[in-house]
Amino acid sequence: GEYGPERGGRIAAHFGRTLEVEALGDDGEFSRHRCHLRANLEGLVTGDRVIWRAASDSSGVVVARGERESVLERPDAQSQMRPVAANLDQILIVIAAEPVPHPNLIDRYLVAAENTGIPPVIVLNKSDLLPATGGELRALLSRYAMLGYPLIEASAKGDHGLDALHAQLRGKTSVFVGQSGVGKSSLIDRLLPEETLRIGALSADTRKGKHTTTTARLYPLPENGERGRPREGDLIDSPGIREFGLWHLDEQQIADGFIEFRPFLGRCRFRDCRHRGEPGCALLGAVERGEIHPERFASFQRIRDDVANA
Ligand code: GDP
Ligand code: ZN
Repeated sequence: GEYGPERGGRIAAHFGRTLEVEALGDDGEFSRHRCHLRANLEGLVTGDRVIWRAASDSSGVVVARGERESVLERPDAQSQMRPVAANLDQILIVIAAEPVPHPNLIDRYLVAAENTGIPPVIVLNKSDLLPATGGELRALLSRYAMLGYPLIEASAKGDHGLDALHAQLRGKTSVFVGQSGVGKSSLIDRLLPEETLRIGALSADTRKGKHTTTTARLYPLPENGERGRPREGDLIDSPGIREFGLWHLDEQQIADGFIEFRPFLGRCRFRDCRHRGEPGCALLGAVERGEIHPERFASFQRIRDDVANA
């Protein structure tokens, strides 16, 4: 027929029904192909693994989607949850030494991440602004390290922590999330060669006229952030992904997002215990015995109330 044999690839961007598929050639080089979709395929997102067939030029057609190992969702204009990226290996939650993050903020991101099933990593950026001792912030963060969360201290303004960051990104597909101003763009600028970012920005802009949404893009991360170096890992980024949040989680999902609560959930005296001081509450018991940090418990209560009142 008019198309070549079936090949594997990954969605690197999509603009309406036009997809950009990245494929590894026999020469060991990655190439990108403008593809259209078979009519029976819908809802492909950046990061999806696909089967596609090349046409005689560099374009092609996507014929099937592989199973998703993970998916990141966010609400659309009608508040329906929609996938925005697939097959992520980790969510890097960026906080900054300045302004000092409220502990509740870290918990909010962790709860949201835990509910996607994608492992979170905490990145403390602007370490250059940290007092020599680090004081309270390091004490706060050590609590998360004790829960088993990987923790990386870095500075986008220096070289501190960039090796650790590269090591964490190696062989994985990652996203950066966090509040505005924590330094996500600055870190990404250090990780991607300048022309990679420029191409991404350009192609998003030129298509904005035709298609209303700017979707996520997949960027190859080269070793040391230098062009021409072997691929270290992948980064998926978009403004929407960075705004990752606690969409529509219920009480149970919020409690489950506190990983150290999990052994105690379902062990309260009352099956419908809401952990608000009922007798025989297993969570409260764990707080009293020092097995759950009282601030994490208070944070759970606050997040639950905020989400209920949203
Ligand atoms: P984003 O909103 O998370 O993408 O944050 P930006 O990357 O735009 O950074 C916000 C501000 O913090 C900018 O003024 C950056 O120059 C500054 N900034 C970012 N990273 C660092 C860092 O490691 N150290 C210091 N001192 N400033 C930083
Ligand atoms: Zn309880």
